[in-house]
Amino acid sequence: MIELTQRIAVVGAGLCGSMLAISLAQRGFNVYLFEKRKDLRKQIEDGGRSINLALSDRGLKSLRMIGLEDEARKLCIPMLGRMIHDTGGEKRFSRYSGREHEYINSISRTGLNALLLDKAESYRNVNIFFDAGIDHVDIENSEITYQCLDQEINDSFDVIIGTDGAGSSIRKSLFDALGEEYDFSSDMLDYGYKELEIPATKGGGFRIENDALHIWPRGHFMIIALPNLDGSFTVTMFNPYDGNVGFNALKTDPEILAYFKKYFPDLVDLLPALQNDFDDHPVGRLGTIRCAPWRIGGKVLIMGDAAHAIVPFYGQGMNASFEDVYVFDKLLTAHMNKTWEELFEAFQTERKPDADAIANLALDNFQEMQDTVDDPDFIKKRVLEMQLERTLPDYYSKYSLVTFREEMSYENAMNQGRAQDEYLLQLVSSSDFSMPKTEDEMKTIVDEMRSKLLLGEQMHSN
Ligand SMILES: Cc1cc2nc3c(=O)[nH]c(=O)nc-3n(C[C@H](O)[C@H](O)[C@H](O)COP(=O)(O)OP(=O)(O)OC[C@H]3O[C@@H](n4cnc5c(N)ncnc54)[C@H](O)[C@@H]3O)c2cc1C
Repeated sequence: MIELTQRIAVVGAGLCGSMLAISLAQRGFNVYLFEKRKDLRKQIEDGGRSINLALSDRGLKSLRMIGLEDEARKLCIPMLGRMIHDTGGEKRFSRYSGREHEYINSISRTGLNALLLDKAESYRNVNIFFDAGIDHVDIENSEITYQCLDQEINDSFDVIIGTDGAGSSIRKSLFDALGEEYDFSSDMLDYGYKELEIPATKGGGFRIENDALHIWPRGHFMIIALPNLDGSFTVTMFNPYDGNVGFNALKTDPEILAYFKKYFPDLVDLLPALQNDFDDHPVGRLGTIRCAPWRIGGKVLIMGDAAHAIVPFYGQGMNASFEDVYVFDKLLTAHMNKTWEELFEAFQTERKPDADAIANLALDNFQEMQDTVDDPDFIKKRVLEMQLERTLPDYYSKYSLVTFREEMSYENAMNQGRAQDEYLLQLVSSSDFSMPKTEDEMKTIVDEMRSKLLLGEQMHSN
């Protein structure tokens, strides 16, 4: 049975694990949070590299649940839309939503993680161990081994939850215990990413618009940039490994400079440390991890990237991991008189289809961000959708369903959004299409779409 006196080990004090530790502590459980790395709050003092993430409504909903939304918002820079840069240096701004109050936020990964760790540490029933990598779990005895003050300690817990990211050791222990009963796939893209930086101006100002997520789409490769509170931008290149614009072809300083001058001429002056950053920062890997089950009995569970790592092109990996904690907490309320096994089962049943959906959506967006943001029909569809959203309160584009309808499951958002996308793209590409001008004309488009796609019921009930 689930009892508040029980001891819970959470392995991995990243974004998901720190939030989970807080939500469990708020209920009264005794939480032991283990983190492989040193305390990242000490690195902030050392001026570590700033990496940022897009935080949106699903993440904010979860932060609200643990009482940290207001504090997190202080770390946020709102990004109202995409600023798309073409090779000629022309810019085009495309809002994320037709509704003014719907936007996403740039937030420092370290700043947010530090906020969560501070909060976790403020609970007397949370013990945090840094420099404490857990390589293996003895599932039979729910036991883990860790180092504390140079001593090796074996300790057993009522429940162990792995939030140790895409390369999860806890998942590996599940895999070892379940053998052939375990489904696992790791689909790595032929693409990698590298982080660069646009520094702040001397006065600490922003060199480009700070209210947008900037994109330089170039067919099968691209660059994006998100603002930081100190006036800088974290710039991320997404390139294939191979081919003439692949990371493997960009080795020498002249090759790198020639590449930027050819494809991103307006960025060259904005990246004064380009060659140093390029040499110093590694190429990160991108991939999708799908696995099942996420649990063994009521002893061990995985969540966050450990259960469902996705490619970053929808800006939803962290948001989905936070939403895991939100869903887990809601299910905990409903299972307080039941067993951990029943709770874990309910969590996986509810969450796995959504994890699969956001993984698929993120792959869809990989294509969209590289290619179609510059495609005339896609642009026309975005203009139409902006008008529909501005005029009709109950119309949501696929992007908005995923990003701003935090009460709708990812799975429903994917099914509804994809169907709408297909219908509207066909509509705007037909030769007799003209943009609707009146509210009635817009209603007609949406009503026809709903009846054709039989979406009406779903649209209103989710
Ligand atoms: C380039 C890039 C851009 C992204 N952009 C966005 C974005 O804009 N918006 C968004 O929502 N998501 C984004 N994501 C995804 C997001 O980073 C992840 O989904 C999120 O970090 C998952 O959180 P997590 O806590 O599950 O895993 P992690 O953040 O990976 O945390 C895992 C923690 O576990 C620790 N750990 C690992 N192994 C062990 C061990 N054996 N023992 C103990 N501790 C261990 C790690 O040190 C780490 O602290 C992006 C990802 C990438 C790669």
